[in-house]
Amino acid sequence: MKIENPNPLQWHFSQRAQKLQGSAIREILKVTMRPEVISFAGGLPSPATFPVEHMKAAFDKVLSQQGKIALQYGPTDGYGPLREWVANSLSVNGSTISMDQVLMVSGSQQGLDLLGKVLIDEGSKVLVETPSYLGALQAFSLYGPDFVSLPTDEGGLIPAEVATLGKDARLLYSLPNFQNPTGRTMSVERRQALVDICAQMHIPLIEDDPYGALSYRSAPLPKMLNMNPDGVIYMGSFSKVLTPGIRLGYVVAPRILIDKMEQAKQATDLHTAQLTQMVVHEAIKDGFLDTHIPTIRKLYSDQCDAMLAALETYFPSSVTWTKPEGGMFIWVTLPAHMDSAKLLEQAIKQHVAFVPGAPFFANTPQSNTLRLSFVTVPPAKIREGVEILGKLINASL
Ligand code: PMP
Repeated sequence: MKIENPNPLQWHFSQRAQKLQGSAIREILKVTMRPEVISFAGGLPSPATFPVEHMKAAFDKVLSQQGKIALQYGPTDGYGPLREWVANSLSVNGSTISMDQVLMVSGSQQGLDLLGKVLIDEGSKVLVETPSYLGALQAFSLYGPDFVSLPTDEGGLIPAEVATLGKDARLLYSLPNFQNPTGRTMSVERRQALVDICAQMHIPLIEDDPYGALSYRSAPLPKMLNMNPDGVIYMGSFSKVLTPGIRLGYVVAPRILIDKMEQAKQATDLHTAQLTQMVVHEAIKDGFLDTHIPTIRKLYSDQCDAMLAALETYFPSSVTWTKPEGGMFIWVTLPAHMDSAKLLEQAIKQHVAFVPGAPFFANTPQSNTLRLSFVTVPPAKIREGVEILGKLINASL
């Protein structure tokens, strides 16, 4: 048998490059792109929500009225009017955010990488939720942190645990709204307690919030940013409320950190595309999101209800799952002896896919967990897919 040489050029990669691993989810997505597959695996927003015509009109207007500016290089911290829009939209609950505190980034994923670059050294203690967003674990991992997994329960992260586990931590990465992957939400009391304890211990508190606006049932809960703008690093994104293809997000933080991130960003890509920033500003400046976001919420909330009802009907009582109040994900816990990676192998043969839970754990993986996304699958297909999964689980009990 011919053995492939994995490095035929014999080039020497950096130690950092040797640590790089492909995301488990991207590998699964390749399989699930086939049209016959009912995929609960993707973290992608529903294309049905993309405002194509509205964006087309905004592109047209920017290019015809300000084309020479839009096609030029721009400032590293971002397009001023859009930074101002972000600052104004976050100046609520008695706190004022200034545009100086806002850095526009090429997707909030870039913000995570820049934060890793300026806050994490090899061996630095980094606090994360159990489980946490895989893309953040991936971004931070490049800088060689020592991850500490903070205990969580149905209400998300448990702030009291930070006092014992958090000493000398470089940062705490939290997802208070409709967490990826669990769909859980942290209560106002926990948010306040977390803000207080991080301030006391001088730990920068990252609030990653791409799903906050997608609250189905009630008004969104207060942001930790507004509880303590001097202690919180807030990350927002246009991916889930407008479109992910424009790659536009923002980081809001005290200026001393924004300065460092801006320098790191200069080295990375000079700045985020001026054209897309101007187009997004044009698209949203007159209140478009106020009418657009409710349409996304309605679609996702109906599909979430369809999935919750199907889980109730088809899954055995030994399986538990979260009941999200917003966002895109449901987190399922199978009986302890079951391995969701094995379940996935069987499910794919029957054209159903999901993401096994293990990659979302920074330390000890719980391999009996899995993540289901309900946003890109219509209700009838949701029922069909969940029924297939339910049968496979029942057969393995
Ligand atoms: N944070 C979380 C929790 C996410 O789920 C995602 C996207 N899946 C991101 C950040 C990155 O989003 P983007 O780069 O598209 O803004």
